[in-house]
Amino acid sequence: MKYVIVGAGLSGLTIAERIANQLNEEVLIIEKRNHIGGNIYDFYEDGILIQKYGPHIFHTNEKIVYEYLSEFTEWLDYEHHVLSNVGGKLVPMPICIDTLNALYGLDLDEESMKKWIEEHKEDIDEIKSSEDVVLKNAGRDIYNKLFKNYTQKQWGTSAANLDPSVISRIPFRFNHDTRYFEDTYQGMPKEGFTKMCEKMIDNDKIKVVLNTDYKDYLKDIEYDTLIYTGPIDYFYNYKYGELLYRCLNFVYEVLDEDSYQEVGVVNYPNHPYFTRITEFKKLTMQDVEGKTAIMKEYPGFNGELCYPYPTQEYLDKFQQYKKEMDNEENVIFAGRLAQYKYYNMDLVVKNALEIFETQIKKNH
Ligand code: FAD
Ligand code: UDP
Repeated sequence: MKYVIVGAGLSGLTIAERIANQLNEEVLIIEKRNHIGGNIYDFYEDGILIQKYGPHIFHTNEKIVYEYLSEFTEWLDYEHHVLSNVGGKLVPMPICIDTLNALYGLDLDEESMKKWIEEHKEDIDEIKSSEDVVLKNAGRDIYNKLFKNYTQKQWGTSAANLDPSVISRIPFRFNHDTRYFEDTYQGMPKEGFTKMCEKMIDNDKIKVVLNTDYKDYLKDIEYDTLIYTGPIDYFYNYKYGELLYRCLNFVYEVLDEDSYQEVGVVNYPNHPYFTRITEFKKLTMQDVEGKTAIMKEYPGFNGELCYPYPTQEYLDKFQQYKKEMDNEENVIFAGRLAQYKYYNMDLVVKNALEIFETQIKKNH
């Protein structure tokens, strides 16, 4: 076998698809879980499509990524809206004019919102943390009500200890745009993410072995190039110590109700344990009567590895691994876990397509 891929997530599948369809070569994918798709895996229960690893909405400004994935799925025209439950009041996230109006009973417009923010934001010369991002953009009360406890719970540490990039994912807007994402292309795959993934690897040249840790399998086979998309510290047997990944536990239930909440996701910044509730029918626009499925997300350090942990200690430790990675001759690293980066799906695909072009096709 020339190519072996570890991990059947979006990175592994994209690279496998390219190798099989563009190079006409055989690929073996080894996957630890009992399904393909990695964190975007979805499945049906009681006729309702449920995303096993939390809400996933496709959004991108990368035309090349949109066009690539469109080869494997049609899209439902979905725009994501999130409300945050602050003491029983539901206010739009991210922060926009409507958030302030709902939160404080105001009637601001663009000009008066700018004035309000000017009066409330804090003067911070150099943004060093995620806390600074909110204090500088919107001030302490907004920080306390919407960000402080959510972030503490999500990451197990204060936003003051987290890299600014974490909260910078959330925009601050001086308009009435209540969409969660502003990207040019956004939507949900018409038949779900798993179906899209199945189509990506619908080629006899691609073989998938499930329920298998690659370390148990690799010693018995020969290969020329290994593409690794699992956790990087595990690959190197933790030789520089463990990298921290924040984990989530996903708890879903099917309810005998038509509808549970107003929008697809409601955040609970001040609930002691879970961060948000997703109602899948609102994302997938499924028309199922009398039933709906919801999911709560409980963060912790045990559970599904979800997020690289963006504190200086672990970013530095990752650099030690990175030096080794750069010296590998027949191993290519891709994806969120191996590159220890907080990538959305679109960047995972973009990166995988680039890896194929520059490191695989070129050397073929
Ligand atoms: P993964 O999907 O993690 O795939 C890696 C695979 O490797 C896994 O299947 C794993 O089981 C396998 N593996 C690991 N170790 C081994 C081993 N030892 N042997 C064999 N196999 C192994 N992105 C968006 O664009 N929009 C969203 O709305 C969005 N929402 C998200 C919500 C949550 C809660 C999370 C956690 C992420 C979200 N993302 C979202 C990001 C998205 O999930 C990722 O970008 C994408 O799934 C990463 O794909 P990947 O292939 O890099 O990693
Ligand atoms: N966040 C917050 N309050 C919210 C939503 C998000 O404090 O209501 C913070 C939190 O630290 C989170 C980060 O902003 O990790 C990025 O949010 P996003 O929704 O992009 O995270 P995702 O769920 O996509 O990882």
